[in-house]
Amino acid sequence: MKLQSFTVLLAITAANATKINPLHIKRQATASSSVSTATSATVAASSVSSSSGTSATSSSTTGISTGTATAVGAPASATWGTSYPPLSQISSGMPSEVTQAVTTTYTAGASPTYYSGADPLPTPFVFNAADWPAQDKLPDTSSSEVQEWMEELDGWDIPDLSPTVDGTCVSDPANVANASARGWWTCGGYTRDTDITVCPGKPMTWGTSFDDGPAFYTTKLLHFLNEQNIKATFFDVGSRCIENPNVLIDEYMSGHEIAVHTWSHPHLTTLTTEQIVAELGWTRKAIKTILGVTPTTMRPPYGDIDDRVRAISLAMGMVPIIWTRTPSGVSFDTFDWEIPGGVVTSEASFSQFEGILGNASTLEDGFIVLEHDLYEQTVDMAIGYTLPAALNHNPPFTLEPIGQCNGIPYTNMYVESNLNTSFPIANGTSDGGIDTDGDGTGDAKSKNSTSSASTSSNGGFTQHTSLSIFAMPLLATLAALVVAL
Ligand SMILES: [Zn+2]
Repeated sequence: MKLQSFTVLLAITAANATKINPLHIKRQATASSSVSTATSATVAASSVSSSSGTSATSSSTTGISTGTATAVGAPASATWGTSYPPLSQISSGMPSEVTQAVTTTYTAGASPTYYSGADPLPTPFVFNAADWPAQDKLPDTSSSEVQEWMEELDGWDIPDLSPTVDGTCVSDPANVANASARGWWTCGGYTRDTDITVCPGKPMTWGTSFDDGPAFYTTKLLHFLNEQNIKATFFDVGSRCIENPNVLIDEYMSGHEIAVHTWSHPHLTTLTTEQIVAELGWTRKAIKTILGVTPTTMRPPYGDIDDRVRAISLAMGMVPIIWTRTPSGVSFDTFDWEIPGGVVTSEASFSQFEGILGNASTLEDGFIVLEHDLYEQTVDMAIGYTLPAALNHNPPFTLEPIGQCNGIPYTNMYVESNLNTSFPIANGTSDGGIDTDGDGTGDAKSKNSTSSASTSSNGGFTQHTSLSIFAMPLLATLAALVVAL
């Protein structure tokens, strides 16, 4: 997902049009008009039942509904339930649906009931532009906030790695040649033991997650997940959180895990250390301000992480979570994020997912897949196709949030309720510090040196086993092309 597409989605004003991908302009123009015209009729793509027993490829009827939204981003009344279009109609040019209301409106002081020790929700979030960096832009690193967060890096050995050119492989042969040494996931899939990339020892388990919200169609996804009693992990973008705070609250209060996914969705390896701190810090602050909790996990956009990004994330108390990738270089990416721009068809994306499921069923570990709740198309793919395909698989997959499938209880997903004093600062090496670069020696002083160093399954890091090499069909070539873009 390009930064530009975020700019488009957020800034319906299209203030930065010169940087916008034309495909995204077209897409956004459709979405914008549908939610800003209170009396316009919104053509529904379908009214297919989304019960778990419904075939993902069944045909559907077409219906029409009248939109009632009055403002961009404001949820309308729930018109569509959890219906979804036929697969062939999920495309860059599909009609936009009316956005749905949150599943429940929560008041300040309400507390999650699904884990103990949860603080009540803070007073309702009121957006004040002066309190936040500009949305979808790299935050200013000279702010007092960023300078304060920089102090969290004290005592950590942040690898002295220069930023990559643009976070892609084709632009950066020098760093590609050094990718193994710098632990660069993007070019070669290099991980460290501190990364979460699978659900260890849990075959047939899908650590389910959605990235880039909270957004206009996240509520539709939440309705479906509630209906199916599925919990997931949401990697939230700070700029979206302050834009859609009630959707973020809905995610959290519905029992989904909340994790950090940066402020403006850059390739983190391209940034200076201060910029990375700013991206993570502002997102963490947005979530804390709205929910009252501080996530202990994060996901780098595009999976673009290296040892420097890793060390910074861990120093700030956030464990990196990527998605499953085979040793042969095929990542468990559905490419759903390419559908809105017309780069990938819904059929190809779903075929990719079916390939993932077919191979995942042979693994000793559970798996993690990249999917998104940012766009209408990606939400429809999830509720109509990928989630039902996993649920209807024989034997069915178990769907769990990523923390849960890694043995991390809800309490430990947030600083305020974390019961494991060695998490996320785990002592994985003999000299008592965490090893972020895989050289066998610690790169940080433990911040909990007086606590017992538990690396048990209730929140410690888990050493994942290697996946066997297996062939992925269909979009492997496309994957390489996308990386090259
Ligand atoms: Zn993302």
